[in-house]
Amino acid sequence: MDLSFSADDLAFRDEVRQFIEDNFPAELKERDDRASMSKEDMLRWHRILHKKGWVAPSWPKEYGGTGWSVTQRYIWGEENARAGTTALLPFGLSMLGPVVYTFGNQEQKDYFLPRILSGEHWWCQGYSEPGSGSDLASLRTRAVRDGNDYIVNGHKIWTTLAQHADWIFCLVRTSTEGKPQTGISFLLIDMETPGITVRPIITIDGSHEVNEVFLEDVRVPAKNLIGEENKGWTYAKFLLGNERSGIAGVARSKKAIEQLKGIARAEMSDGEPLINDNDFLNKISETEIDLTALEYTELRTLAAESRGEGPGPESSILKVKGTEIQQRITELTLEAVGYYGMIQTPRQGEMSNYTRVGPDYAEGVAQEYFNMRKTSIYGGSNEIQRNIIAKMVLGL
Ligand SMILES: Cc1cc2nc3c(=O)[nH]c(=O)nc-3n(C[C@H](O)[C@H](O)[C@H](O)COP(=O)(O)OP(=O)(O)OC[C@H]3O[C@@H](n4cnc5c(N)ncnc54)[C@H](O)[C@@H]3O)c2cc1C
Repeated sequence: MDLSFSADDLAFRDEVRQFIEDNFPAELKERDDRASMSKEDMLRWHRILHKKGWVAPSWPKEYGGTGWSVTQRYIWGEENARAGTTALLPFGLSMLGPVVYTFGNQEQKDYFLPRILSGEHWWCQGYSEPGSGSDLASLRTRAVRDGNDYIVNGHKIWTTLAQHADWIFCLVRTSTEGKPQTGISFLLIDMETPGITVRPIITIDGSHEVNEVFLEDVRVPAKNLIGEENKGWTYAKFLLGNERSGIAGVARSKKAIEQLKGIARAEMSDGEPLINDNDFLNKISETEIDLTALEYTELRTLAAESRGEGPGPESSILKVKGTEIQQRITELTLEAVGYYGMIQTPRQGEMSNYTRVGPDYAEGVAQEYFNMRKTSIYGGSNEIQRNIIAKMVLGL
């Protein structure tokens, strides 16, 4: 694996850097905090990138991808993290899109892919149900064929940003014969269809990010079935592989460590900057070493991808280590800001008449700490990822 950048790569990096500088909206800078953003805010960078043709670097060129090499995609991620741009929502671009162009029929590709790229369709993920999270194959939402439609009844939970969604991709049970995995289908459902109710769940950080979705006699055209009936588990696992690799967030963790170091330089401990405290410095160093190791694992995965090998069970390693590091950085940041970290300040935009307490960098640190507890749960909990690694990677 050759990690040095060629002259072309460096020229590409400069082009990307300049493009971000010229086009990323100034008022969105450093606001990668979805809970305080409107739907329009979340879509602004998406639309700018779509116009430039850069919104889906990992898609094949024929479907609207950029045709960038693996190195260029890496540079793209690094430069976005460095500049603190708004992270694009993964549901359409990284999760559903690849399922549609890999397993969908021509009509589905023609209709859905351009709308994912343009941001016209905001997608959400309808996998989990009460009682079916880790044991996803036990899901009970039923889809019964009725002429040219399916009639869907069931209850989804933890559906991220469903309050804004135009469409939901759902796993539904179409058969109760045989193993539970063999009776699941992958269905695309328009959120405007009568019978769908979205109910908010407010999380410990005070934000509205997740929801329950109730489906009551929802009539879905059978043409919205991806691939074959009862083969949905295969497509679902393919999607989860992409979801897990995407959760690693190496470039953004690198930026977060830099911010943490800045705070540790500004905060005083026993009359000295906190960064001079050996115990604290050791904690930062250990985290940084783990992050570098993870970065090389990610580069190895990208190299395999450039040889045409899709993300395999090693994406579970990226998921576990990436999320542990993200959580550790938020813990250390909370520790660094000390007492100010105990104050739950309202997020930007939520309330206008409060007086800020403490330094600017302490704002939102507690919310971020609480919010990041989710990362070791969503996308398949880390305990389950460890089971997958034990079985599929280590052969135990
Ligand atoms: C913030 C957030 C956003 C989410 N967004 C979405 C979304 O948009 N769409 C969606 O479909 N889902 C979403 N999820 C759901 C997420 O995928 C599930 O929460 C996750 O799969 C875990 O399932 P569960 O919550 O039912 O926990 P359980 O499966 O009940 O697990 C509880 C605990 O037991 C452990 N455990 C369970 N079985 C085993 C085992 N065999 N071996 C070892 N340990 C085990 C788990 O690891 C966990 O620690 C989201 C979750 C969160 C927290």
